[in-house]
Formats: sequence, structure tokens, C-alpha cells
Amino acid sequence: MNAAEPVLHLIPLPALTDNYIWLLHDDAGNAIVVDPGDAAVVAQALTARQLTLRAILLTHHHPDHIGGVAALRAEHAVPVYAPVDERIVEATEQVRDGDWVELALPRVRFEVLGIPGHTLSHVAYVGAGLLLCGDTLFSLGCGRLFEGTPAQMLASLDRLSMLPGETLVCGGHEYTEANGRFARTIEPANAKLQQRLLEVAELRARLQPTLPVALASELATNPFLRVDADAVAEWCRRQGSGNDRVARFAVVREAKDGFRG
Ligand code: ZN
Ligand code: FE
Repeated sequence: MNAAEPVLHLIPLPALTDNYIWLLHDDAGNAIVVDPGDAAVVAQALTARQLTLRAILLTHHHPDHIGGVAALRAEHAVPVYAPVDERIVEATEQVRDGDWVELALPRVRFEVLGIPGHTLSHVAYVGAGLLLCGDTLFSLGCGRLFEGTPAQMLASLDRLSMLPGETLVCGGHEYTEANGRFARTIEPANAKLQQRLLEVAELRARLQPTLPVALASELATNPFLRVDADAVAEWCRRQGSGNDRVARFAVVREAKDGFRG
């Protein structure tokens, strides 16, 4: 963020079982929310902080990310930015890869990245030093492949990996502890992973969110961003995977799907 831009405050609102609704606001009380799966959680946060909702951003069509939109829209006639997908009937502004979302209040702009994999129309919003990535990238994990192929998801994660290391990853779920138990089985000797797991355990013991997290930390610890790392490639070889990176990604993703830790 450059110095001329106003300060934006970022707050993860826990919702439903383990979702985060991301709330962003400026010092003048203008707010936006990303993936409001529960309207009551947002309404309560707006009231408690005396904020005015100005826009809603959606990353993908799943109910735990859009379920609160209709109720919020009934109270606040704000634009709803969403990927092109007929399953998102609440959208008022459709966005696609390469578009920019430019808001006046709060003053912020986001680039839209098309990142298929978890779903085919999934997008991320990148701006103000943040990566709002829904169910594509989590701390120490990534989303399940409900609609896309391993090649699509890997290409999407590759794009996210190229963002500046200080970018704050704002994923849609608090899955970090379970993801960490799996990540540890892939790279037991990764010291940065061990350090992150300690930090995560401490945060969760105090019921604090483990997000946002710097992208640089994820690049050093998240097995789904590390299919080119020697230790991960070696683990994949032991599973009998082919040695191209898509095959490695696929074998890690499949192992996570079957992991009960
Ligand atoms: Zn989802
Ligand atoms: Fe979700």
C-alpha cells in the first residue's frame, strides 16, 4: 500500500462452523465484506463498530460464502461483486480475470484473478496488500477440487505464489491446525513448518485466528505451494507419483483428501 492511500483495517469475522468473513473498513466508517456466509455476523460487526456497509465481494458460489448476501442486501443497497456464474443470483457486478474493482468508499482497488480449481468460476481479489482468496488457498492447505482439475488448481496457486511475499493471505476457513497435521507428514523436517505449527497451536489455544498470514510464510510451509521443493518431491516419489509437478500436486491433494489425522 502506498503512503497516499488511506489506512484500511482488516478483521476476520468467524462465522458458521469455521468460516471467516473478511471485513475491511477505513477510519471514516466505510466497510466492505468478503464472502458473507452469515448476515447476522456481519450486521452485528457493523453495529458494534459503527460502520456503514458499502460493497460486498464474493469469491465463489458456495453457500457458506454467499448465504448472507440476500439478507444484507435487504438492509443495505450495496453492489455485489462476484464472478460470472449463474449460480450467484445475488451478483450485481460480474467480474472476471484481469478486471479491477475500484471503490470510492472505502478508497481501495482490487485486481481480479481467475483462479479455477475449487470451483471453476472462483476468483481472488488482490489489493491493499491483501489476497482475498476464498477456498483456493488456506494456511498450510488449499481447497478441495470440487470442479477443477489438479492442473487448473496448480496453475491458480502458481499465480498466487507470484504475488509479493508480504501479501497477507486471507483465506475463507480456519483449517490451519488440521492442515498442519497433514503438512507435517509431508515435510517432518521443515523447521519453518515446525515453527508455524507452534505459533498456530498457541493462537488456537487462545481462540485467535491463524489468518491472515504472509504469503512468504506459506511459500515456506504449505505443501501445496511446495511441489517443487526437494522434500515434497521426494515424498511424492515415495507415493509412486509421476515426476512432473502436476502429478506431484495431484498426489498431495489426494493424500490430503484421504487424510484422517
Ligand atoms: Zn467453497
Ligand atoms: Fe467454503
